[in-house]
Amino acid sequence: MPHRNREGHRKRSLAVFPGSFDPITNGHLDIIGRSLSVFDQVTIAILVNPEKHPLFTVEERVAIIREAFQGEERVQVDTFSGLLVDYAERLGASVIVRGLRAISDFEFEFQMALMNRRLNPRIETVFMMPAESYSYLSSRLVKEVFQLGGRVRELVPAVVERRLREKYGTAPPVPVPVPARRRARARRA
Ligand code: ADP
Repeated sequence: MPHRNREGHRKRSLAVFPGSFDPITNGHLDIIGRSLSVFDQVTIAILVNPEKHPLFTVEERVAIIREAFQGEERVQVDTFSGLLVDYAERLGASVIVRGLRAISDFEFEFQMALMNRRLNPRIETVFMMPAESYSYLSSRLVKEVFQLGGRVRELVPAVVERRLREKYGTAPPVPVPVPARRRARARRA
């Protein structure tokens, strides 16, 4: 049964999708898309963790995600520190969404979900599986591949590719010049 407030209006369901998002990838986008088909709103919550050494600052990650979701009113971006369940409670979210790529994710996620339930039994953790093509994708791998000169175009939103180039000071790929003879032939065709 949908939750209703005192006036009898249906309460909008809000899910929190927490993580580092350093940077956000198409795997994350896949999970957010699936969450939007189940929940009314999704808040992408970036964990502020001074012990980690991220590539992108929290401010940069917020800006990147805002740009990736421009015009999507059902998606918000926020930052948090401290206990996730306390943050979710303050936000009025009753669900935490996490992505499960493979068995290797499971053990840690299972532990976290049970601990969060113990800390706050009112908040439920929901796991979603991405499309198979994203099941090997991680932010760490994207950074490594890009740094080594590999192509990340199909793996991240355009804004992330641009920001990676800016961060590493790499020039955009130079278009391969078409020889003059072939250009003339193409014009005639
Ligand atoms: P964290 O440091 O919390 O793992 P991440 O940004 O790496 O932060 O991941 C945030 C969430 O997104 C986690 O639930 C993670 O399992 C999920 N996730 C990351 N990459 C993918 C992917 N390719 N497909 C599905 N879920 C993913």
